[in-house]
Amino acid sequence: MYYIGCHLSSSKGMLAMGREALSIGANTFQFFTRNPRGGKAKALDVADCEALNELMAKNQFGPVIAHAPYTLNMAAKDEGLRKFAMETVADDMMRLSYTPTALYNIHPGSHVGQGSEKGIELITTIVSQILDMDGKTPLLLETMSGKGSEVGRSFEEIQTIIANCGNHPRLGVCLDTCHVWSAGYDIVNNIDDVITQFDRIIGLDRLKAIHLNDSMTPFASNKDRHALIGQGSIGLDAIVRVITHPKLKHLPFCLETPNDIPGYQQEIALLRSLAEKAPN
Ligand code: FE
Ligand code: FE
Ligand code: ZN
Repeated sequence: MYYIGCHLSSSKGMLAMGREALSIGANTFQFFTRNPRGGKAKALDVADCEALNELMAKNQFGPVIAHAPYTLNMAAKDEGLRKFAMETVADDMMRLSYTPTALYNIHPGSHVGQGSEKGIELITTIVSQILDMDGKTPLLLETMSGKGSEVGRSFEEIQTIIANCGNHPRLGVCLDTCHVWSAGYDIVNNIDDVITQFDRIIGLDRLKAIHLNDSMTPFASNKDRHALIGQGSIGLDAIVRVITHPKLKHLPFCLETPNDIPGYQQEIALLRSLAEKAPN
């Protein structure tokens, strides 16, 4: 059985997301921990978290992905901005302790002209502080497309952060199909090579989740424009090969395509039927 789902709005609470996921054939999902542009999170509702946990256990959900606000920048030049990122991540981690199947995903950051080496150093400082705190939630670094001054555009950059954090056991990676394709990893023609590279550089045991997106822009464009599955430069067949790959098929797959709920429902149904029909 595959874990396939999509990004959902958390505005109606945790249990409501679980119910919405079920209603569209999803057995995993992703949500923003707070307004994606930053700001204050809603008051923590422990009973709501527990109700979701119960629903997910009853319906055999896979891990779910909690996504940090994308405006946080752990590599910011300004110390105040870095402190804000650190405090927000710490607060999110505390909240996620009530959702034991959650993985916490964050964009490593943008070095904003300081150079990727400096960016990696600043990110490492915050990530290692966070991992030093009490907590059980895995922290995932997302592979990025390399737009602007983004850090995490290569497996090497991600691995350097992990190594600098002492290979902490709770540190993992979320691979975004649109981002790696845009960053120059040919998952359409050479998926096996990309997985082998990932394994050699980072280690496949660190890979905890996949974002499923097609791309509006061509291979190696360093852009970050998600397309509907089958309507971009990656294509439906390559996406199905990602889901059914023997080294990936156990992972949670989460769509972040430009969709409404009925659109997600259709994509999930399509991907499930093709994945289940595929050989292997
Ligand atoms: Fe993301
Ligand atoms: Fe993503
Ligand atoms: Zn993206």
